[in-house]
Amino acid sequence: MQLFKEHELKVTNSLSGKKEVFKPIKEGYVGMYVCGPTVYSNVHLGNCRTFMSFDMIFRYFKHLGYKVRYVRNITDAGHLENDADEGEDKIAKKAKLEQIEPMEVVQRYTVDFHETIKKLNLLPPSIEPTATGHIIEQIEIIKEILDKGFAYVVNGSVYFDVVTFNESNDYGKLSGRKLEDMIANTRELTAQGEKKNPQDFALWKKAEPQHIMRWPSPWGDGFPGWHLECTAMSTKYLGENFDIHGGGMDLKFPHHECEIAQAEARCGQTPVNYWLHANMLTLNGKKMSKSTGNNIYPSEMFSGENDILSKPFSPSVVRFFMMQAHYTSILDLSNDALLASEKGYTKLMEAMGSLDGLNGGNNSDFEVMAWKANCYAAMNDDFNTPILIAHLFEAVKHINLIKEGKEQLIKKDLELLKATMNSFVYDVLGLIDSAANQDDSASLEGVVQLLINLRNQARENKDFATSDTIRDELLALGIQLKDGKDGTTFSIVS
Ligand code: AMP
Ligand code: ZN
Repeated sequence: MQLFKEHELKVTNSLSGKKEVFKPIKEGYVGMYVCGPTVYSNVHLGNCRTFMSFDMIFRYFKHLGYKVRYVRNITDAGHLENDADEGEDKIAKKAKLEQIEPMEVVQRYTVDFHETIKKLNLLPPSIEPTATGHIIEQIEIIKEILDKGFAYVVNGSVYFDVVTFNESNDYGKLSGRKLEDMIANTRELTAQGEKKNPQDFALWKKAEPQHIMRWPSPWGDGFPGWHLECTAMSTKYLGENFDIHGGGMDLKFPHHECEIAQAEARCGQTPVNYWLHANMLTLNGKKMSKSTGNNIYPSEMFSGENDILSKPFSPSVVRFFMMQAHYTSILDLSNDALLASEKGYTKLMEAMGSLDGLNGGNNSDFEVMAWKANCYAAMNDDFNTPILIAHLFEAVKHINLIKEGKEQLIKKDLELLKATMNSFVYDVLGLIDSAANQDDSASLEGVVQLLINLRNQARENKDFATSDTIRDELLALGIQLKDGKDGTTFSIVS
């Protein structure tokens, strides 16, 4: 159903700082690119919030009947520790630390990312390209930017010339900065090294002999700059001008600003019509971040093994908690807020559970059509999920009254209520009834733990035939045991 024809959707465009009516380049189609994770460690809940915000946006576009091509990349090279093109590649650093191949680091944390977001019920994107899979495209873009005179080569590295670009373009338009101010603020600093100006950024960096992630290029062995990969992958799959580019608020500058500069330097046109930025998840009032250690990992939250929260919280409750905040607002994670979300989530799911059993009556005590229009109005107003949830709870109140025999709805209205609740709760907000799913996983966990205990006993008794049989038979069933210093854990491998 082409619902988009009946709805005017407004989105907050970071380029204008305003809410704008969304008009796709091609009617009925949406091209959306979202910066994916840098896979050098486990994703934390803050990362998950950003990806979940765009999952909700993806879901709503699909719900409206758009054909969406959603591209979310995996950053597996080029992201240095420092935004000013300094420091080590995050993945190479981890590989050195653990004495493994960079691609082993990438594989481990890509798997973790996929497993985590699956638990949080994120839909897979249409394309999930990797930076290392697009080195050739990145080199081609650098050549084009060099040809256009917006970049220069120094000692095997290529830098984007921000000052030259700014003469005919507006560097800083996304983040609301002026190049003159940036230059004035950094005049005292001499750390620019090979760059003509500290604001210039690397398109290609020469690999020093010790740098393990390296590729041949016309400028010698090296690796691409972080901003370039997103320009290469977004334009390859969505075209030189596409509808939506998203990411966390912290990526606005320099990452997205540089993406705009690269694409404009290369093609002479703006790459993206709507820039959408999701706001940060904070913990104790501070941004959740891997590098500062102020974070909580999803697995710690689901298992309850952490010093921050009083109990475990299921992925569904976490998802509900995040959907209760608008994606452009800061959200602070706290035990009390999660407990309140858990209550709300349970109440909503109980009402969803009783919805199917309700029967139509002789008249309608609740204006379902008007209520449905309010739900859409909330989502059409820049994906306002907290307002949508308030409307869903209005319906919960009526569902409970109908259940108690204190209100009624004629059959047609009841059917509309059921269909609308199902659409918004499950399809758009992406909530799942965890009670139904949890039972299976809880009993599987119990059974595997029992077998781990029996295996431990067998090992203590030096009955290695039995302990090996338990391990091998479990593996044949797709359950892998891992012996670590803190005991045995298991993972599902197939
Ligand atoms: P990274 O893996 O560091 O490249 O980050 C992946 C995504 O998570 C980016 O879009 C970031 O903007 C986003 N992100 C990082 N920290 C947070 C946070 N505390 N809250 C919400 N999003 C975040
Ligand atoms: Zn990016």
